[in-house]
Amino acid sequence: MTRIFNDPADFADEALAGFCDAHSDLVRHVEGGAVRRGRTATPKVAVITGGGSGHYPAFAGIIGPGFADGAVVGNIFTSPSAQQAYSVAKAANSGAGVVFSYGNYAGDVMNFGMASERLNAEGIPTENVLVTDDIASASPEEIEKRRGIAGDFVVFKVMGAAAEAGLDLHSVVRLGRKANEFTRTIGTAFSGCTFPGAEQPLFRLPEGQMGLGLGIHGEPGLFDTELPSAVELGQELVRRVLAEPPASDSTRLAVILNGLGSTKHEELFVLWRTVAPLLREAGYTLVMPEVGELVTSLDMAGASLTLTWLDEELEQYWTAPALTPAYRRGAVGFDVASADADEADVDALTAADYSSTEASRAYAAQCLRAVDTTTALLRDSESLLGDMDAIAGDGDHGRGMVRGSAAALEAAAVAFERGAGAGSLLAAAGDAWADKAGGTSGVLWGAGLRAFGERLGDAETPTPDVLAQAVRAFADRIASLGKAEIGDKTMMDALLPFASSLEDRISSGTVAEDAWAAAAAEATTAAASTAELRPLKGRARPLAEKSIGTPDPGATSLAMVFAAVGPHFTAVPVPATN
Ligand code: ADP
Ligand code: MG
Repeated sequence: MTRIFNDPADFADEALAGFCDAHSDLVRHVEGGAVRRGRTATPKVAVITGGGSGHYPAFAGIIGPGFADGAVVGNIFTSPSAQQAYSVAKAANSGAGVVFSYGNYAGDVMNFGMASERLNAEGIPTENVLVTDDIASASPEEIEKRRGIAGDFVVFKVMGAAAEAGLDLHSVVRLGRKANEFTRTIGTAFSGCTFPGAEQPLFRLPEGQMGLGLGIHGEPGLFDTELPSAVELGQELVRRVLAEPPASDSTRLAVILNGLGSTKHEELFVLWRTVAPLLREAGYTLVMPEVGELVTSLDMAGASLTLTWLDEELEQYWTAPALTPAYRRGAVGFDVASADADEADVDALTAADYSSTEASRAYAAQCLRAVDTTTALLRDSESLLGDMDAIAGDGDHGRGMVRGSAAALEAAAVAFERGAGAGSLLAAAGDAWADKAGGTSGVLWGAGLRAFGERLGDAETPTPDVLAQAVRAFADRIASLGKAEIGDKTMMDALLPFASSLEDRISSGTVAEDAWAAAAAEATTAAASTAELRPLKGRARPLAEKSIGTPDPGATSLAMVFAAVGPHFTAVPVPATN
């Protein structure tokens, strides 16, 4: 349980601010996260890690010479936004390119991906290295679907050292991917973790039980079993990881025995007493093993075992010196220029100038009301959606939708005040939603809303046809980012039937209001039917069995929102009279 906090909503930001102050010799607070204080005199590849908060020392704790150049810091257990990733990259870039590295979670993949598109378009070469070490999260046949857990640390360490040694972007990326390919982790949890201010833990394990194969976001284990003795646990972890060796004949291993947040170091050392001899008996030499907290999960109790099969170059970078707030190894004599990049380096978002017609302004007023309705509805549904997401996901869907829609409403109101037409108003709302919501659904809703607005434009009152096309643009954008299909148990299962039904009804002459209401009813039915499906995309996928019987939270919220906003989008606007 987390006991020290003010407003729970500010917890991640306040923790980051405190961290940056305490370690101001090494790190500097920037918009979206933190970067290394002082740039090297010669350009080097900027290695930027990131993800949600709650995993300290991952990710900001490993910023410093020999390790990361920056960390993008999201809310607790939530992906940072594309805007945050972009901003940290701009602050950390010293002219030799950027590599984003993070665990394989849909929200992170999309947000870092979008930031990379933007950086590349500006001429800053940017690459992404995903970590997929968790052997419990997908089968060997679907290895690319595995999520990243404590193996993050090895991949970041290798890339950080390689970049420090002056290797170019291509080589740093190649080494990172190789480190990931040769890394395997299995985790186990003994108790859940609790968000600051939350009354209930994210999940519970019965006393005396442990969950094998946990994720670092409190996703419950793949199966639960009686709590074994330390020796039995050590044997189980070693047996499982060694059963899945990568294609390497190396007998040298980097080893991490990681605590999840509230497991004592002493307990880990007791476990190590079993793990180390078993690995040595299997013929391995253990190279600079780490026993401690490197990638945590709030106050979860549990441990994970990570092995990386080292070849010569991986070993060179694994053992290289590093100096960071949470992790120090060897002697460092780094070339750090005193010239401190100031925060103005990051392009300020310029305030948009709007040009819109009277007709579009009248419709924009209705769009604003639609966003207002959405925000109120989601606020009332927060716990329902959160509980639904906690069954097989991480329980944050309600909170993310509330945060996203509240930010969207604020941005929409400002845009309206400044004269935005309907299209610009919704695009601004979408950008704010994506920036503040966090999570997979936040990126998708934000990008979809922007596409919706772009189709509406700022000139005309949309005809029913245009409205249907805007909904289709919303769906297409989400499909291209999320790559989910019908039946994958995502929001697409409600959205695609909605979009098709609206198109059909409008093209056959039904009035917009009735067409929308009927399409929303179909989306509601489709969302409810997702209860029977097994999730094939997103965080819930590894826990597919647990999800059966519960509808998809993203499909549920989408159907609710679409049903509620119909009257605003379909009413014929009354132009303002002067
Ligand atoms: P996170 O999964 O990052 O915690 P949320 O809990 O806010 O994000 O949202 C979860 C919802 O996001 C799921 O219920 C599902 O509807 C939707 N979702 C997840 N992955 C995808 C995807 N690839 N495409 C479309 N929707 C997705
Ligand atoms: Mg979630």
